[in-house]
Amino acid sequence: DPRLARIASAIRVIPDFPKPGILFQDITTLLLDTKAFRDTIDMFVERYRDMNISVVAGIEARGFIFGPPIALAIGAKFVPMRKPKKLPGEVISEEYSLEYGTDRMEMHVGAVQAGERAIVIDDLIATGGTLSAAIRLLERVRVDVVECACVIELPELKGRARLEDMPLFVLVKAA
Ligand code: 5GP
Repeated sequence: DPRLARIASAIRVIPDFPKPGILFQDITTLLLDTKAFRDTIDMFVERYRDMNISVVAGIEARGFIFGPPIALAIGAKFVPMRKPKKLPGEVISEEYSLEYGTDRMEMHVGAVQAGERAIVIDDLIATGGTLSAAIRLLERVRVDVVECACVIELPELKGRARLEDMPLFVLVKAA
């Protein structure tokens, strides 16, 4: 697809952020390129519009940028998957491991119903730990997670394997 080259080149790479040795994929520059940003959303919408998806679950923080326009375009609801203590209502939560220590992801009780079909969206998959936690959270309440979607994959970190049999759709693979 000819749109992919423009999307890939609109993502800025910043060395040594947030710490030395890390090559950070910065999607804020993609948001500045109106054509590339629109193409990004369009490509996800083209994939998911006819898949009977009723839930787009977006992961804090950058899944909140890409998820809502996709949800609106395909006629699905948007459900935020948040860092601890951000959601005001009753939540269910799931722990996951980071490089050092653990973190927790929370979702409002009642946001989704058993049997709904969902996709999970984030900007980037590295080790896959974050997406796996979101999948577990949704599956605990019997939601059918159909696929995960990211703008960027870092294939060297093998996050795809950590998702086991869950399909993963990405636009750009980065080094
Ligand atoms: P994982 O759990 O797959 O190891 O890490 C993915 C999470 O970390 C995502 O929520 C993603 O936003 C964030 N992340 C890790 N590295 C990068 C990066 O280089 N660029 C961006 N934009 N996000 C990153």
